[in-house]
Amino acid sequence: MDTLSLLYAITAALFGLVFGSFFNVVGIRIVKKESIAYPPSHCVQCSHELKALDLIPVLSYIGLRGACRYCRAKISPIYPIGEFVTAIAFAVTTWQIGPSLELIVGLLFVSILMICSVADIRYRIIPDTVVFSGMIAVLLLRIWIHPLPFWNYITAFFVGGGLLYLIALASIFFLKKEGMGGGDIKLFAFIGLVAGIKLTLFTLFAASLLGTMYGLVQIRVKSSREDQGIPFGPFIAAGAFFSYFWGEPVINWYLSFIHFN
Ligand SMILES: [Zn+2]
Repeated sequence: MDTLSLLYAITAALFGLVFGSFFNVVGIRIVKKESIAYPPSHCVQCSHELKALDLIPVLSYIGLRGACRYCRAKISPIYPIGEFVTAIAFAVTTWQIGPSLELIVGLLFVSILMICSVADIRYRIIPDTVVFSGMIAVLLLRIWIHPLPFWNYITAFFVGGGLLYLIALASIFFLKKEGMGGGDIKLFAFIGLVAGIKLTLFTLFAASLLGTMYGLVQIRVKSSREDQGIPFGPFIAAGAFFSYFWGEPVINWYLSFIHFN
């Protein structure tokens, strides 16, 4: 890693902190059908307006030891975690892609994944407005920026969405429960537009693996506290992120074992 790449990555991380803070607000307010701009940031408990000093990403939370300065109500750790994860994701994206046009797609991709994850963790909803905006933006960008042939992304859009739709149907039919929501289906179609066919399929594999691993840990920790299931969105997001950057080498590594000539 040369100095310039490091500089880009650090700058991206700083932007990530600020954007992460904004994504938290969008992810939470959009589900509640509130305006993103008004009212200004406030404590959800006492409604006291938050000052600049209360809004420094990550640091304010640590400084205030996770409580509101005015009423001492606990602040959800989702805020600093969301900011921190966005910073890391922005840095990794910039470092991996470097200064090229695909970076626009990459940062947009990460942004949509973050907002959807926050909303899904908080309310178990992947907001249509966010996913559809992402689809339109990426579709327009893909006409212009497409490392793979354009048709590959369009096919992946239908393959990703279609596959999740089939899984959702199967889970209702065989397990008699709704494991997968409409939001997950749309999110996968969106991932198709960004990642292309191969990496979209790999995302499904990675997300299922992550979800299963988390599920196993959960069962061990507490004996199914509530039968609400876990939101799948954050696992799809994590799987998609991993796949977008490292899916290709992992697939090639795996194929090297079964490919003998
Ligand atoms: Zn308060």
